[in-house]
Amino acid sequence: MQIAETIEETRRIVKEWRKEGLSVGLVPTMGYLHDGHKSLIVRAAGENDRVVVSDFVNPTQFGVNEDLDSYPRDMERDAAVCEEAGAALIFHPSPEEMYFPDHCTFVDMESLTKGLCGKTRPTHFRGVCTVVSKLFHIVAPDRAYFGQKDAQQLAVIRRMARDLDFDIEIVGCPIVREADGLAMSSRNTYLDGKERQAALILSQALARGEEMAKAGEKDAAKIKAAMEEKIRTEPLAKIDYVEIVDADTMESLDTVAGRPLAAIAVYIGKTRLIDNTLL
Ligand code: AMP
Repeated sequence: MQIAETIEETRRIVKEWRKEGLSVGLVPTMGYLHDGHKSLIVRAAGENDRVVVSDFVNPTQFGVNEDLDSYPRDMERDAAVCEEAGAALIFHPSPEEMYFPDHCTFVDMESLTKGLCGKTRPTHFRGVCTVVSKLFHIVAPDRAYFGQKDAQQLAVIRRMARDLDFDIEIVGCPIVREADGLAMSSRNTYLDGKERQAALILSQALARGEEMAKAGEKDAAKIKAAMEEKIRTEPLAKIDYVEIVDADTMESLDTVAGRPLAAIAVYIGKTRLIDNTLL
């Protein structure tokens, strides 16, 4: 496995593979890799001759008061995870390598990005679309892998790839959870013991929503209210949003039909966690 810190070297390596007729999969990450990331890399390695993992804490997707500086980083461990999962190359650029000092071009989206996480993070998806576009241009993969964990991001990337004619198959991968139900996230490391326990309220609230939908409840407002009620039983939890939306358009649903997604964001102490499930 190789590690490239520049765009030029990454392009050179991928071009060599292309000359040999090899297919390429890309797994974009912000590093501090866990089994959720690993599942994407393993899937990509099964479907492509070579896998590139990008490992880059992208500054443009963080708001001014967010956790850019404290976001966990451990390149040595990440390299071991990538190697074991079957990656051929890690692209690990510095912010200066990715963004010119006078960078002024962004990829933005008119809909899909206004609700859910876009409400509290108004510039987040502009940063995501911009960096993912850059990675798509740098690596030019056949396929790119994203987790259902970030359901809004997955829908946004699918739409961006469609709208901007990226010739790349976008592959969505299932959420990987801890044994007790907590969705794996690099941000789980922020939680202390009590908060880690309290964080179970996210998957429990979603389970309640799923149960109701399974039992035939079609009224989205009722399911939302029940999930909110469940979350409020946890004193360390503060709701950012609880929504039922269409999984492709991210538009709010009144009736549970089509591809309904229950998506939630909850502060556990100072840590904002997200989770979701298809109903
Ligand atoms: P991140 O490093 O948090 O930006 O995540 C990189 C990729 O891994 C994104 O496509 C995420 O959706 C995906 N991912 C993160 N956590 C999980 C998880 N628990 N299960 C599946 N995919 C995940």
